[in-house]
Amino acid sequence: MSFHFYNSKSGKKEPFLPKDPNRVKIYSCGPTVYNFAHIGNIRSFLFVDILRRALRSEGYILDQSMNITDIDDKIINASIEKKISIEEITAPWTKAFFEDLESLNIQKLEHYPKATESINDMVDLVHRLQANGLVYEKDGSLYYSIQKFKGYGELSKIDVGGMKSGVRNDADEYEKDDVRDFVLWKNQKSEEEKAWDTDLGKGRPGWHLECSAMIRKVYGSGVDIHTGGIDLLFPHHENEHAQSEGAFPDEEFVTTWLHCEHLLVEGEKMSKSKGNFFTLRDILEKGYDKKQIRYLLISSHYRSKLNFSLAKLEEAKQALDRIQTTLFRILESTGYVYETFETPDVQNVKAKISNTKIRSALTDFENGFCDDLNLPKSLGSMFEFIKEINQSYDKNLWNGNDHSELIYYFQFVDSLLGVLSFEKETPAFSSDEENEINGLIEERALAKKNKNFARADEIRNILTSRGILLLDTKEGITQWKKVQ
Ligand SMILES: [Zn+2]
Repeated sequence: MSFHFYNSKSGKKEPFLPKDPNRVKIYSCGPTVYNFAHIGNIRSFLFVDILRRALRSEGYILDQSMNITDIDDKIINASIEKKISIEEITAPWTKAFFEDLESLNIQKLEHYPKATESINDMVDLVHRLQANGLVYEKDGSLYYSIQKFKGYGELSKIDVGGMKSGVRNDADEYEKDDVRDFVLWKNQKSEEEKAWDTDLGKGRPGWHLECSAMIRKVYGSGVDIHTGGIDLLFPHHENEHAQSEGAFPDEEFVTTWLHCEHLLVEGEKMSKSKGNFFTLRDILEKGYDKKQIRYLLISSHYRSKLNFSLAKLEEAKQALDRIQTTLFRILESTGYVYETFETPDVQNVKAKISNTKIRSALTDFENGFCDDLNLPKSLGSMFEFIKEINQSYDKNLWNGNDHSELIYYFQFVDSLLGVLSFEKETPAFSSDEENEINGLIEERALAKKNKNFARADEIRNILTSRGILLLDTKEGITQWKKVQ
């Protein structure tokens, strides 16, 4: 089945036609490894994962990268303040980033280039830009002259009418109406500031330069798809575009630009000052499950704003339970004996499905995500089908190979969603153990009532050591769950 994507550059939905289906080149702007990723960042990483899984499930072979920004003003300032190297600042955050990916079942990409390992490529790119007359120097720093690049503003559609030549911006991030020349190479200002001694002078790269150079380093060319959050469209992606096509005027830098929308929390922009700022770890600590979080963050369309709330996490749990209960019903009917397909060979399940109802349900699911990764459409068709599956089980209408073919359907679905379980689940505790846990919780409530807080804390600690998380609700009821 063929894909259509909404290309930010053309402003319309276009058929996806990669130059080589056996090596589809995709680059995504990755994390600045300076603190934990917040759930808005996580949403854009999950978007990359869905793009990957969708293309792979249709048989494309991918060569995919996400960069690690380990050179940045904040990182350098922290290294000066703490008197440690930038590597010491970034190493724990880089580790935390990969842990977050793993905990959300995000597939590993082929490359994770780092800025610190790509300095030579950045210098080479600046040399090309210099040769093409696009660079000037001021106080030892190098700037890109945007007026000299004809296509500036084409990608983000910003108004370049009012831009003045020679007005510079040294910051990596700035407002949309601040159209100025941007910095390629920043001159070292003080001895303690981390710098690289190159023939551009002693200094460090601007953020925009990092991505253009890493793409060149990994692929030796432009890419089929470039992704990022919508807030990166200007100035970051506009500047990447200007650098790469300014350096290589005969080559197209990116064929398709995909941008993922913002995440809001309870209708508002997430910010630390508003107290609505969440990292993945914050939510896990509240006792929510990883699969619930993954499901919620992938279930809305990437081009719609996602309004995150804890109530929505509960809805995600109910939706997941509905899919999983149906899947267990099917698995039960086969005695959990089935053939396993994983990406990329999940393609093969299509040929194995002879039941026309199941086949058409699978096609509906595919139609959804092939249309600009419209997962809500895919999920809608899946829930319709789930209703039909259950009704037919109630009436004993499935027979022969149907059970296996239904499992194939869910294997295909899960090659995208990555949240289902195909294994028989054994309860975490026996009923005797559950009684004991409930007894301890009652005792704790009583201890709290009698102001015996030492005993109440002791009971909480006993339960925590057994992997049980207690959640005290506003209504005074204590819920518990087993955490992995
Ligand atoms: Zn980037």
